[in-house]
Amino acid sequence: DKAQGGQNMSVNPNSIEARDVAYHMHSYTNARAHQENGPVVIDRGEGAYVFDSTGKKYFEAMSGLWSAGLGFGEERLVKAASNQMAKLPYYHNFNSKSHGPAIDLAEKLISIAPVPMSKVFYTNSGSEANDTVMKLIWYRSNAMGTPEKKKIISRQRGYHGVTIASASLTGLPNNHRSFDLPIANVLHTGSPHHYRDAQDGETEEAFASRRAEELEQMILAEGPETIAAFIGEPVMGAGGVIVPPATYWEKIQAVLRKYDILLIADEVICGFGRTGQMFGSQTFGIEPDILVMSKQITSTYFPLSAFMMNERVFEPIADETNKIGVLGHGFTGGGHPVGAAIALETLAIIEERDLVARAQEMGAHMQSRLRGLSDHPLVGEVRGVGMIAAVELVLDKAAKTGGETPGALGVQANRRLEAKGVISRNMMDAMAFCPPLISAQADLDFMVDALAETLDEMQAAM
Ligand code: PMP
Repeated sequence: DKAQGGQNMSVNPNSIEARDVAYHMHSYTNARAHQENGPVVIDRGEGAYVFDSTGKKYFEAMSGLWSAGLGFGEERLVKAASNQMAKLPYYHNFNSKSHGPAIDLAEKLISIAPVPMSKVFYTNSGSEANDTVMKLIWYRSNAMGTPEKKKIISRQRGYHGVTIASASLTGLPNNHRSFDLPIANVLHTGSPHHYRDAQDGETEEAFASRRAEELEQMILAEGPETIAAFIGEPVMGAGGVIVPPATYWEKIQAVLRKYDILLIADEVICGFGRTGQMFGSQTFGIEPDILVMSKQITSTYFPLSAFMMNERVFEPIADETNKIGVLGHGFTGGGHPVGAAIALETLAIIEERDLVARAQEMGAHMQSRLRGLSDHPLVGEVRGVGMIAAVELVLDKAAKTGGETPGALGVQANRRLEAKGVISRNMMDAMAFCPPLISAQADLDFMVDALAETLDEMQAAM
């Protein structure tokens, strides 16, 4: 039972699928399996839907990579891009050069920040943003005469990107294995995954307290004077959509404050409405010193990332640039005028259409419909907040175990969902759902109905 891509390849060696296999190496793909099965080639988009090269229509329940919040056909973003292309298609921010879109966007971001922030720094991807954050934290510690303060604490199951530093911060085995990572100065503490990691009968609050105590123990064992920062996603995305247990962020932040450790909120997925507030930090009472943004900032019509930092972070760095003469860091495409213009239009649309409130309302509907599947024999846990959720599949509900091959249930569910016209993504056996903020209630119902049918079919086939 070859997938569409594989079928087309065997019929026609010049097919678009065969050319993909011949010339294109894919991200997050088993390269050998890809040679066998071929790609799904997506050809065009319309609202919350995309169409493949055979004309098949899919509801994009992942917004691409948790990213196209406005869907795949927002004309206003196309116009914003084309107007900016015509006026000033490129400029940079090195050597005190600047341009309107970068300035307007920085001002806008500071104005909507969940806590007082001072400056915006522009990068091109979430990974680059987190790499830059790590470098600037080291730079700041040197500037402050505390060169031993260099370690960053991240979390198991956390995802912060794939470049050398950000992949090190990522706490998932596939991002380290065979890459000789993580690098020095990165530590991983336990994840806030109550369903998987809590002890028998441990309440969310007790589990959160234990995670905070473990963090404190790690800080004391390493030496508090060596720990510069803690990084976390408000809700973990790629680690399996892990919503923190009650009181988690409050307790973690109390420990960080006690030892003068900076807090970095990686809002690459959570930012701009995803959790039902503009920022995930607002949903969970997080007060970051640095807030990292990407993906929905442009609906990913253009690669753009950025982070905001408060005065406490900016001031020592500014002093150091004055001492050295220049900040020896920056990207050619950083703050790209086309990306910044698209981001400004994206934010305008989010505000005009009140998409944050809509995410709350549609999110509540999606969450309650998904929770309706909780009693299914194959469902271990349904979790989520706002417009992001996961349904974790198991074979044994009591033991919380999946099949012999971890992730096999997820792969199967994914394939069946795709056949029904829903693009989801399995993080091992957890099916993730992160639909566009513009999704209609009927779209979400179509998605949940397809999942329910999928689970029944899998159950029947066993
Ligand atoms: N941080 C988080 C929370 C992410 O989800 C991602 C991407 N999924 C990244 C960082 C890395 O972003 P990029 O793929 O743009 O490098």
